[in-house]
Parts: sequence; structure tokens; C-alpha cells
Amino acid sequence: MRWTYTLGRVGETEIKLHLTFFLLLAYWAAGGYEAGGMAGAIGAVAMLIALFVCVLLHEFGHITMARRFGVRTPDVLILPIGGVARLERIPDEPKQELLIALAGPAVTLAIAAVLYLVLRLSGGTADIDNLSPATPFVAALFRTNVLLLLFNLIPAFPMDGGRVLRALLATRMGLARATRTAATLGQMLAVAGGLAVLLSKNGNPVLLLIALFVFLGAGSEAAAVETRLAGHGLHVADMMVREFHTIPVHATLARAVELLLAGEQREFPVVDNLGRAEGLLTRDNLVRGLSQRGVGATVAEAMTPDVPFVPPTMPFAEALERLRGSGLPALPVVDGDGRLVGLLTRDNVADLLLVRRAGA
Ligand code: ZN
Repeated sequence: MRWTYTLGRVGETEIKLHLTFFLLLAYWAAGGYEAGGMAGAIGAVAMLIALFVCVLLHEFGHITMARRFGVRTPDVLILPIGGVARLERIPDEPKQELLIALAGPAVTLAIAAVLYLVLRLSGGTADIDNLSPATPFVAALFRTNVLLLLFNLIPAFPMDGGRVLRALLATRMGLARATRTAATLGQMLAVAGGLAVLLSKNGNPVLLLIALFVFLGAGSEAAAVETRLAGHGLHVADMMVREFHTIPVHATLARAVELLLAGEQREFPVVDNLGRAEGLLTRDNLVRGLSQRGVGATVAEAMTPDVPFVPPTMPFAEALERLRGSGLPALPVVDGDGRLVGLLTRDNVADLLLVRRAGA
């Protein structure tokens, strides 16, 4: 099942919706229907869409500020708890991260200010506990934006407040420890919040969902940052396997089995007569080839053809993205002259990161 759906693209940023956002939409529509029939359901959906636009504007606050520091944003994901703009990298200067983290809440604050002005000018009251009956839609949107602002400023990952905290901590203890501290705080707050919802008499399931997302978001953010930091400054040439066996495209699977059983290597670059990479024979390819065609079949019949190559000069983050994107356990490393010079494997990358992290 796919968890995210691409909605469109603004500039260089893809806008994606998480599947659970549609669950939230259904939940809201049902709540609106229960309260006010069809009109209630339509009103609730309109409110959620207006909120979606507000969240998107908030995210583009982050994206625009990041762009100013030369950091691109390939995509922004909208979750039930808000948006997550995936920055290509964390800026080197903690001060820049601070400004990027603050730019989103600043946009939300501006939206809230405009809505407040509209409420005032239309003679309504913006009292949070006493919504104006004249402009209930604007009043509710105002109230939600204020809540969004407060929620975002909670000083724990993955909220913006957590990023602000991380940036402030990073000036004292380095990015890795600052990230871990902010993430741990986020998870503790999520657990405390989740327990509070469970123990309360009329706990709102949406709040429980929010606590779950905060918990998972804090953990994955910390892991992503640690990986990025551990790989900082590395290139493919630093992490590839240099000693490996290749297998000719016309060899039999019996020969591939011999190679597999002879050593540690699990994936074999398949080469033609000139030594150029033609594809990759993974252990899965081999097992499937053996069961479908037998040991007499050729490697060419069983291999994965047209695998993407990586050049030895490619930076760590980009190479990791290509490796993950390929869905393969390894990719051939091919230099500018078309020569096969190495093998980039998931296992090797994982081991390397483990060692670098332990040394950090
Ligand atoms: Zn934000």
C-alpha cells in the first residue's frame, strides 16, 4: 500500500499528502455530518481544506528561508499533525537553522494576525472561548491557527520549537548530541501526552494519533540526522567495496552458486567480454533463476539488467538516496571511463556508518 500521494509541485518542491490525512478528512466529515447534516459535513471539509492551505503556507515559510541559505527542499509531506518540509541538508550554521525553523511559525503568526483583523473589522470577537457567531468559519480558522502556532512552538522534535532548541543546543554540544537531546525530549513529551489522553475520561483519538506521530517523527528525524552526520564529507570511493568478484554474462548459474558459497559476497556485478557492467546478480535473482530455469541457465537470464550506476565521486547522501531508490542491495560503481571500480552495498554502508558513529 502507498502511504503518500503526490498532489502537485511548486517550484522545485513536490507536495505530498500522507494517507492518514484522508482518514482525518473522513473523521472530520463524519463529525460535521453528525453535528449538522450534509451542510455540516461540507463545512467541516471546507475547514480542513482551508487549514491545509494554512499549513502549506507555513511550510513554504520554512522552504523560502531555506532557499535563501542555498538549501533545497525536494518535497513537503502533509500529515494530520501538520507539514514536514524535507530539507536536502541541515545548514552548517546553527543560526541559519534557527531562522529556517522560525520562518514557518512566523507565517502562521501572520495568518492568525490577518484573520484576527478580519474578525475585528467584521465586528466579531476573536475571543478564543467565545467564537463570533457572525463569522464562525473565520473565527474557527483563527482559533486553529493559534493552536497550530502553540503546538509548533513546543520545544521538542519534530516540532519547529524542537528545531529551535536543537539549533540553540548545537552551538554548545554539537549537532549529533543536540539532535539526540531534542528527540528524546520529543518522545518523552509524546509518551506523557499519549498517557494523559488515555487516562482522561473523554480522550480524543485524534490527540492519540498526534502523540504517536510525534513519537515516530522524533525517532526517525534523529536517525536521519545521525546517518547524514556520520556520512558527512564521504564519497562513494570511501565506502565502496574494492575487492569483489564479477561474473561473466554468459556464465552458468552453477558457477554463480560456486561463487556465492565460496565467500561473503552476496551480489555480483555481471560483466560483458570487455569487463563492462551489464547488470547485477543478487542472491534473490540467483535463487529465483535456479528454481525457474535450473543450474544450466545463464547469468544473463537471471540477473537484474539496467541497474543504475554510481560514480566514485558522488557524495554520500546522493549515493545513499540512489541505492535506497533502486530497491537493490548493491549498485555497481562505474568511473568516468566506464570501468567497473567497486561495489556499493547496503551492508558495507551500514557497517561504515556504525563505525563512524561509534567513533564520533
Ligand atoms: Zn514548521
